[in-house]
Amino acid sequence: MAAAEDFAEKSSGLQARKELARKVYELLAKAIPEPKPELEYHSVYELLTAVMLSAQTTDKSVNAVTGELFKKAPTPQTMLELGEDGVRDIVRTVGLANTKAKHIIGAAGILVSEFNGKVPETMEELVRLPGVGEKTAKVVLNVGFGKGVIAVDTHILRVAHRLGLSEARTPAGVSKDLEEITPAEYVRNAHHYLLLHGRYTCKAQKPQCRNCPVSALCRYLSANPWLRAG
Ligand code: SF4
Repeated sequence: MAAAEDFAEKSSGLQARKELARKVYELLAKAIPEPKPELEYHSVYELLTAVMLSAQTTDKSVNAVTGELFKKAPTPQTMLELGEDGVRDIVRTVGLANTKAKHIIGAAGILVSEFNGKVPETMEELVRLPGVGEKTAKVVLNVGFGKGVIAVDTHILRVAHRLGLSEARTPAGVSKDLEEITPAEYVRNAHHYLLLHGRYTCKAQKPQCRNCPVSALCRYLSANPWLRAG
């Protein structure tokens, strides 16, 4: 294909995905009027810590331990004083407790020594903290600081593929695609719209297509019409 034709095709594909994204968000915004995080926290530092604890477990099991953890250690300094053993004792039920406690104390040390006890607001600085990858950093940047980035987890990856918002195979690729096509007015809540939709309606095994607010736009449902009966 000639370069000009290739460019034209890519542009029209991008435009179509932008229009699809706008319609999807319009419908999800009506269906989920208050898209709140399910993790409980009272500050950006607590949000960061809760997201670090949420790897490979549920928000519910994280919330079951953070009440006590944040009561004892609401800041990086108090977390350091609690120490790795103290953190591990409190978070032992969330899974990977040894690693998570080590990362939480490592991150608290860097926050105190290099950032004056504050959570930094850039991706480059956040991913320097132990246990903080791109996804965790994007949740903090978006939910904690209101930045226009979209963190992608397994639910969002699935929803993006089913609806045709992205063909990318990796969370980072889907994140890039979503950031490109999400209208500015929806960027703040896009992560939660797609996450909550994936968690409660567009489930991996049994998507609730009959009660889905975006079913009219869904190519996965068009390709699997039997799901309408589910
Ligand atoms: S119609 Fe079904 S597969 Fe499509 S987004 Fe809705 S729940 Fe998911």
